[in-house]
Amino acid sequence: MKKTIELIVPCYNEENCIQAFYDGVKEVFKKLYKYDFIITFIDDGSKDNTLNIIKEVANTATKGKVQYIALSRNFGKESAIYAGLSKSTGDFVALIDVDLQHPPELLIKMLNAVENEGYDRATARRISRTGEPMIRSLFSRAFYHIINHVTVIDLVPGSTDYCLMKRNVVEAILSVTERERFTKGIYAWVGYKNKWIEYENVERSAGKTKWSFMGLVRYAYSGFIAFATTPLRGVVYLGIIITIMAFIYAVDIWMSMVRNPYALRTGYASIMIVMLFLGGVIITILGMIGEYLARIYMEVKSRPIYFERETNINNTNAVVENVKKIDDEENNTKQE
Ligand code: UDP
Ligand code: MG
Repeated sequence: MKKTIELIVPCYNEENCIQAFYDGVKEVFKKLYKYDFIITFIDDGSKDNTLNIIKEVANTATKGKVQYIALSRNFGKESAIYAGLSKSTGDFVALIDVDLQHPPELLIKMLNAVENEGYDRATARRISRTGEPMIRSLFSRAFYHIINHVTVIDLVPGSTDYCLMKRNVVEAILSVTERERFTKGIYAWVGYKNKWIEYENVERSAGKTKWSFMGLVRYAYSGFIAFATTPLRGVVYLGIIITIMAFIYAVDIWMSMVRNPYALRTGYASIMIVMLFLGGVIITILGMIGEYLARIYMEVKSRPIYFERETNINNTNAVVENVKKIDDEENNTKQE
């Protein structure tokens, strides 16, 4: 029996990309004719015509099986991917963007890595960032540098979430059910043997990116908080250092009093400086603790990661079942 490769494709306002994406994938699977493929589009609450176009592509697909899940609102790419993964059935599952910035041809190399070279998954990595603003690359590099130093996970600069993985890796990722999903961190955290597949940055086929600069900063920040508890430990160290400093200062004042009782240092300035300094430190620390508390609050509520509004996944299975039943009946009547 042919093995199946399932592509999980999150889409948010991508009406102009869907058809081109399907055609691109179809081309690649001409070379991968030994495999069946399923494309699962996840419509992440698009406000344009994305869902209708997905349905059209699903109905007119000449190769492979095209299925879709429409979420009840825009939950974000990470949740959309989770939705896709939790419904996936393929022997190999790939996560890929619909805008053709993740070249489908790489699937061939990726598949080779997991099928023949003994890897559990293969992940694409951009070696150039052409077409990207300078400042974005700069911040991105700084982010990787910091997160690798302060967390247990090891993120590789330029790594994307375009990957192909075996079933066991999918199960591992699904078992991580946190709501604040920093996917890159989760992939790195679950481990398994990964092969990096390098490629040159590609520009979007149509439409525009959903990421604003501030959006990226927020993403990096939440990734950091999700995987690093180092700041909390840092707070404790800072507290200890400030206490020791205060103690040394107290001893210093006491000694100068002993030496010269009239030289009492009642300086208004020094008191203000220390007060303001400590006030600032305390507020910062409270804010930091608040950030973690907010995460705990959201996780404890344990709301579902996504809601599904519409899908054809069960339908297509039902169709297949119906066909089978009819076949069986025909066989039965023949036997009779
Ligand atoms: N995406 C999504 N939900 C969102 C934002 C983005 O499903 O809320 C999808 C989007 O349709 C695309 C992929 O995530 O397939 C990557 O988005 P984009 O191309 O905007 O990001 P970039 O490539 O610029 O990092
Ligand atoms: Mg893109």
